[in-house]
Amino acid sequence: MDPVHIIGAGISGLGTAHYLAKQGIPSIIHEVGSYAGGRAACIKSGDHSFEIGGKNFSSAWPRFNALLEEFNLTEFEDQHPGFHIVMNDTLVALQKSKTLAGDLRLASAIGTRGAFQFRNFLAFARQNADKLNYTSGLIEQVEKTWDHTTIDNHFTKKLATGPLRLFSIIMGAAEPSELYPSLMMLFASGFGKGSHHAIAGGIGQFHDNLAAEKDIRFGSRVTRILTHNGHVAGLELKDENGAHVVPASRVISTVPANVFKHLVELPAYGRVAVEALRYFPLAMINVVYDAPVFKEGVHSIMFEPGAPLGHCSANRLHTPHHVRYTLSGKAAREILDKPDHELVRIAEETFSKRMPINANRTHVHVARHSGGICGYAPHFTGLKKDLLRSVESISGLEIAGDYLEGHTMEGCLTSADLAVSRLLANTTERSQAA
Ligand SMILES: Cc1cc2nc3c(=O)[nH]c(=O)nc-3n(C[C@H](O)[C@H](O)[C@H](O)COP(=O)(O)OP(=O)(O)OC[C@H]3O[C@@H](n4cnc5c(N)ncnc54)[C@H](O)[C@@H]3O)c2cc1C
Repeated sequence: MDPVHIIGAGISGLGTAHYLAKQGIPSIIHEVGSYAGGRAACIKSGDHSFEIGGKNFSSAWPRFNALLEEFNLTEFEDQHPGFHIVMNDTLVALQKSKTLAGDLRLASAIGTRGAFQFRNFLAFARQNADKLNYTSGLIEQVEKTWDHTTIDNHFTKKLATGPLRLFSIIMGAAEPSELYPSLMMLFASGFGKGSHHAIAGGIGQFHDNLAAEKDIRFGSRVTRILTHNGHVAGLELKDENGAHVVPASRVISTVPANVFKHLVELPAYGRVAVEALRYFPLAMINVVYDAPVFKEGVHSIMFEPGAPLGHCSANRLHTPHHVRYTLSGKAAREILDKPDHELVRIAEETFSKRMPINANRTHVHVARHSGGICGYAPHFTGLKKDLLRSVESISGLEIAGDYLEGHTMEGCLTSADLAVSRLLANTTERSQAA
């Protein structure tokens, strides 16, 4: 059987290969980089492994948890019980399991009106958690009611620049003035749903299991998906052998939308949809110190608007000496072209204003996600239908990735599973028609 060609070895690409293998279908993954995992990779540096992006998962995610079970990965570590947000120049706690005292402190920081808005917003997200996704109708209703303007225009200023910015920065690397309510509702539905953990020893083990026995061609950049008479005909590649073409009749692209749009000519309505998707760049700095840096019950800090550091947290609850600094948001984007040592200095300087660092660095790793994190688009449900319809117009082509079902590892696996199902359904339909 001819292999399916997959573009990209991030979690969407690895997941796609895995779901194909379950159906007995071979695949070849073309990956431009030298490692698997993409934006959720775990990079070896000296005697440390650094998680440079996605690592936390929810016990409520069906596909991710099914794979953990299949791979016999059973050792997990709990995620932080909450966040501290810099508001009015102090650290205000936002606990996932709420307490009256916590609520009162938060209410005094965001005001009574803001507190009511926040309570109503979270209640809606929690009550409808199972229906808030890009495959049910509810998110479309949210889009119709709310997506006429950005998040900041819907809520009090203190709420939008405080607790709600937490969602936009951590999950979208963007400001509330740059994202739309439907996406925030999607994020919030996951907040407090199930329990949140990370894999002991790192997310790399998950990728290693997915990658096992797969044919991954590292250092292979796909530059074009070739089509002929509306069918996929091949891939134009650049690898160690230079530029060349490989014949292919079935291709699943799993690269981000901002890469995919350059690989193939879509009908106009598909181009409009893919162009509407926004990505926001960020840098992730892992620093290990020789003494604890987080103290006094603080494990995770969300910084104020205008700070170059969006968010930072202890890598695990029990590692207060290992800090993940995330340079995200508008102010961070202005400095991302600075050299690594400057980014580290700026991150530490910002952090020290809230918590002094009385420790020395022992390991540093700087990762730049210059392609960015997906901020979706207003009224995305309709755009997604157009995008999928435009891809369907090229037979043998499918897409998976962070821009279709939510940009979490579960969203990526869902998109991979659905792409495989669509590809197989279309192949069967074509062979029956012939
Ligand atoms: C800082 C950060 C923290 C995050 N935290 C979490 C979290 O805690 N939990 C969670 O669930 N999610 C988290 N996410 C989101 C999650 O990591 C991403 O949604 C997910 O990793 C995206 O995977 P992907 O396979 O769709 O894309 P990518 O990981 O981007 O994979 C695409 C792959 O394609 C390759 N590629 C690109 N162009 C080409 C080409 N032309 N030819 C061949 N190969 C190509 C790339 O090198 C890459 O390996 C986080 C993301 C970031 C950035």
